[in-house]
Amino acid sequence: MVSLQAYEKNLENNTLNKGNSEIEKSNLKTSCKIKKEKLCNQLRTEELKALLAEEKIARTTISFYQYFSIENPQELRNTMYKKFNELKVFGRIYLAHEGINAQISVPNDNFNEFKACLYQIPELNNLRLNIAVDDDGKSFWVLKIKVRNKIVADGIADPQFNMQNRGKYVTAEEFNHLTDNSDDVVVVDMRNHYEYEVGHFENALEIPSDTFRQQLPMAVEMLQDKKDKNIIMYCTGGIRCEKASAWMLHNGFKHVFHLEGGIINYVNIVKQKGLVNKFKGKNFVFDDRLGERIGEEIISTCHQCGKPCDNHTNCVNDGCHLLFIQCDECAQKWEGCCSNACQEVIHLPVDEQKNLRKGLHNEARIFNKSKMLNFAPII
Ligand SMILES: [Zn+2]
Ligand SMILES: [Zn+2]
Repeated sequence: MVSLQAYEKNLENNTLNKGNSEIEKSNLKTSCKIKKEKLCNQLRTEELKALLAEEKIARTTISFYQYFSIENPQELRNTMYKKFNELKVFGRIYLAHEGINAQISVPNDNFNEFKACLYQIPELNNLRLNIAVDDDGKSFWVLKIKVRNKIVADGIADPQFNMQNRGKYVTAEEFNHLTDNSDDVVVVDMRNHYEYEVGHFENALEIPSDTFRQQLPMAVEMLQDKKDKNIIMYCTGGIRCEKASAWMLHNGFKHVFHLEGGIINYVNIVKQKGLVNKFKGKNFVFDDRLGERIGEEIISTCHQCGKPCDNHTNCVNDGCHLLFIQCDECAQKWEGCCSNACQEVIHLPVDEQKNLRKGLHNEARIFNKSKMLNFAPII
């Protein structure tokens, strides 16, 4: 359990915080005071983006997460906001009773101070910070720290479920070794179907769901007859499979492992150490790129013409925005649209398009091969 008092005490001793600790402490109590002390951003997005564009300093984009018990996430949020804001950290951090999940960019000049600050929380001391490699540091332009119910929405209502009891980590080397003797090993992909579609580990089992919360009960059901096997779970960065490993143990599975740091860390280690890469295709990522190539092979097909392709895109019709795979030729032919209907819409006057969108739900739409009828027809 993180002791906030201890954390604050440590911060008081931090040079960054000299002279501010008393003011800081008294300011962290109520949301009313939060507004007064500006513990949230006050500028408009356009202003923030303009500021970022003008910024001359170099930034490093990092991500990290940790499951650990946080007694008072709101208090920790306020303390963190004040500190990280001073250090000009941008990005998003989620805090919940179960832990922390962060994707942020840190000015290089402040990196050591940031790290010292983060590592003062005992459970985060020496935590691995994943550095985004091909990133220009311009992914974030504001700091948002939000308190959530969970750091990963899991739909688990069972009060007996305990994140403290989770599977064992396997390193990239161990993963390769275990899967070489694969008879008693089941590799399970704990990502969504559209992530699996463009890239996954050799022989990995797909749990075909749209969301992680649907996937957890599905995984338990699909693996019922494999309870005595070694189950190795993986996801993009480790946060989902770590929770899934705890859920499998909770459901009576005995030999549960998860890939440390997920695909991202696996790929880095494989490159560094010259190991065999067992990941095929593209790693889907949730930023503008929608995927980074890892294996040379293309394992999926264009959803419109069926030829090999693994480029995800969003339909350019703002009223649709369907996530689907489209090859360059089809992108040209359909002008980036997923269907005839959408292509017609984008040629309408803007006002008319806006009218059409009125009353439409703003939910994320994802093409699903197994549930094609739920979506706009792909012609
Ligand atoms: Zn195509
Ligand atoms: Zn569309």
